[in-house]
Amino acid sequence: MKKHNFSAGPSILAPEVIENTAKAVMDLNGIGLSVMELSHRGKDFQAVMDETVALFKELLNIPEGYKVLFMGGGASLQFCMVPYNLHKKKAAYLETGVWAKKAAKEAKFFGDVETVASSADKNFNYIPKGFTIPADADYFHITTNNTIYGTEIHEDMDSPVPLVADMSSDIFSRPIDVSKYGLIYGGAQKNLGPAGVTFVIVREDLLGKNERAIPTMLNYQTHIDEGSMFNTPPCLPIYTCMETLRWIKKLGGVAKMQQINEAKAKVLYDEIERNELFNGTAEKDSRSLMNICFVMKDEYKELEQEYLSFATSKGMVGLKGHRSVGGFRASTYNAMPIESVQALVETMQEFEKTHKK
Ligand SMILES: *Cc1c(COP(=O)(O)O)cnc(C)c1O
Repeated sequence: MKKHNFSAGPSILAPEVIENTAKAVMDLNGIGLSVMELSHRGKDFQAVMDETVALFKELLNIPEGYKVLFMGGGASLQFCMVPYNLHKKKAAYLETGVWAKKAAKEAKFFGDVETVASSADKNFNYIPKGFTIPADADYFHITTNNTIYGTEIHEDMDSPVPLVADMSSDIFSRPIDVSKYGLIYGGAQKNLGPAGVTFVIVREDLLGKNERAIPTMLNYQTHIDEGSMFNTPPCLPIYTCMETLRWIKKLGGVAKMQQINEAKAKVLYDEIERNELFNGTAEKDSRSLMNICFVMKDEYKELEQEYLSFATSKGMVGLKGHRSVGGFRASTYNAMPIESVQALVETMQEFEKTHKK
């Protein structure tokens, strides 16, 4: 049976990205070697690295003065690297969920952290508005897409201090104005590639302004100076990211991606609103295009497990909501085809017909 992969991460990749990676694993560009068995310093892998960086710059329209880096450690290591490199006296954080809290927790090892606003009062089902970013902070950290709660910051905000963004789960889902950010980072495994590589886009002039001694591997400057090859980079995951970026470019770039994502999300949000059995969890103006969270209405609550089993029997994968929200979460990342969203909607309609009181 065809599977519809709604997993939150690691998550769906475009079929041609997987096929092309499989080919390169067998034989990269007909050179008679696998991409997995090449020196990262040889010309064949260097070409992969160069193209990946170039596609980042092209697709996100990254201005001069920014560097694109690849490293290991996940977004979670960036929670620590960001303050290690940028925190001097005080950092400001927007608390929009578990990942945002984990990021702020690491910053506290380096000094003061101000939580500018929080949506903890409603289990993070909205993005706070009307807050003031302190002008004396060294940077302001946001999580643009809250993977667990299905909320998303849809605009690039103005900030009086360098804006740092965890874009793990919505990078390349829409055009962004990189010039509004000081640093953007994310794990690849949501919207870009397999697990194992983390990307960082950093404005170089923010670095080196810190009195603190920074261990070599945790210093962004090391990775800039060595072109992400101070140590061995995650070569195969980087290769797959390159294939994803080629695929996005072929489809028409991130503006086109956004159109497709909006159309997909609308199909599912419309059904959640229409269907007698389900309720969305996120407030409407904060709803994510990447992770769509919904639960069963109170009078149908006892049917959640039954619906999940039914949807699973129809090929849906990874629909169970995160334990801190419950219910269901459909992750509709770039690579998710609209046909899969429609297939999900059909299971909701069928279940409604057979179970509506
Ligand atoms: C998944 C996720 C993380 C954690 O990423 P790791 O690569 O596992 O460290 C951090 N932030 C967000 C927004 C995520 O979705």
